[in-house]
Amino acid sequence: MTKKKADGEHIRCVCGAKTVPKQFRLEGIKVRGSECPKCGEAYFNSEDANRALIYNKIKHEIMSGKVAKAGNSYVLRLPKKLVSALGLSVGRTIDIRLDSPTEVVLCI
Ligand SMILES: [Zn+2]
Repeated sequence: MTKKKADGEHIRCVCGAKTVPKQFRLEGIKVRGSECPKCGEAYFNSEDANRALIYNKIKHEIMSGKVAKAGNSYVLRLPKKLVSALGLSVGRTIDIRLDSPTEVVLCI
């Protein structure tokens, strides 16, 4: 498989055939791209593929966040690499589950 820019559109494969848009899963992360029906070559969207790479690099890593206050709300500041790996953006709502007195799970 080749990691080249592909936004889920038809592109010309190295073999000369036209690729077909396809959604891949790398490390459980959705990656847009396209696949050649003739030779099977895969082309990934570079932004999505980069997210999968960051995810693979930081999974199981213990990171630290910092609690801050914004008005009457508490805010948890997340490491940039975590935000990148998850593809989060400002205003996104996520689910939060308290698993034990010392463990909180964020569900995207
Ligand atoms: Zn091909």
